[in-house]
Amino acid sequence: MGIGDRFSHQGVAQLRAIVKANQSGLDISPVWNKSNREHIYVHSHPADVRKEADAAVAALGFSGKYFVDADHINLTTVAPFVETADFFTLDVASFIGKESSAVDVEAFVTSCKKYLGHLTIPGISHPIEVSEELLRTIVGKFLAATQQASEIYQFLKAAKGEGNFITEVSMDEVESPQTPVDLFFILKMLADKGVPAQTIAPKFTGRFNKGVDYKGNVEQFAKEFEEDVLVLDYAVKEFGLPEELKLSVHSGSDKFTIYPIMANIIKKYDKGLHVKTAGTTWLEEVIGLAVAGGKALEAAKDIYAKALIHKEELCAPYADVIEIDDSKLPSAAEVAGWSSEKYANTLRHIPGHPDYNANFRQLIHVGYKLAADMGATYTDLLEKHADVIGSCVEENIYDRHLKRLFNL
Ligand SMILES: [Zn+2]
Repeated sequence: MGIGDRFSHQGVAQLRAIVKANQSGLDISPVWNKSNREHIYVHSHPADVRKEADAAVAALGFSGKYFVDADHINLTTVAPFVETADFFTLDVASFIGKESSAVDVEAFVTSCKKYLGHLTIPGISHPIEVSEELLRTIVGKFLAATQQASEIYQFLKAAKGEGNFITEVSMDEVESPQTPVDLFFILKMLADKGVPAQTIAPKFTGRFNKGVDYKGNVEQFAKEFEEDVLVLDYAVKEFGLPEELKLSVHSGSDKFTIYPIMANIIKKYDKGLHVKTAGTTWLEEVIGLAVAGGKALEAAKDIYAKALIHKEELCAPYADVIEIDDSKLPSAAEVAGWSSEKYANTLRHIPGHPDYNANFRQLIHVGYKLAADMGATYTDLLEKHADVIGSCVEENIYDRHLKRLFNL
């Protein structure tokens, strides 16, 4: 379970939620994930995440496995994470569609001869038609990206030693989703290049907007997710990838509509799953501030007022993963008059609640840079209201996320 935490104050509350879920017999490992982009915006360092994780684990006497994830790194950004991370998300999305050498292309195509024609994946009722043309299209899209994954992996293997870290490969930050057949050949490419992927984050069908529910064709998602699980299972046996290979769902927080679907499928096949959340915890901090009232509520209102002013620049880096309807955003003046309850109910993700506003929520989601700019004023409030905020964070991860994800 990826539990990103922008300001590194909620590690204990996040871990409490996981401990609670594990008391029902589950074996969830927390993974504190933070990307280079988040570190830059928040002015934090990879070592801070390790400190937070170790401290939370010590505080609760957690004895299970836990990890620190260098999220969405590439060859140019990986170095500062090497020492303190033990989980690396190799982001190769920007290499999709880049050209590979003709020799490499031909070698891969030749190695796939046995999969041409009717490809049967155990568990998938219909055979998948693989023409040489389709195969070449897939190779053209993904061979260079998997080559890049291999280069980052080799760098990490030399720096940290084989087997000392978890390898995730991510291709989620792109426009078009990868199909189960794409995934099948991507896994073969990774295996051929010696990348022992333990989790893989494809782009799934539908929209995974930040901090809000899934939007898309739920039936199509369910079908592809199940096929992806079966493709992974087959790839483990066919290509010798690590047994624990699992799907990773990025921007995975708050996708309440599809949680029961994923829960049922992973249960049906007895598989694992990795879900990354980060922004949802930052949103709970703002909710907690609102609930706390007084100066804390004022700060929450201030963050919204500033977010409205800086909307364009805050949204720009997240253009593909948010959808805000400006006409549904309340004015700063209106919000200034809100009670704690009204603010919290507007922001808290309870679909169907009369006050819940997904547009308001997405704007606050991208506004964490504003809290970072407040410096100690913000973190002092987090410390002063740690109990209220901590309960919000714990409740969100346990009640709204883990319960739905694992049928608790
Ligand atoms: Zn991602």
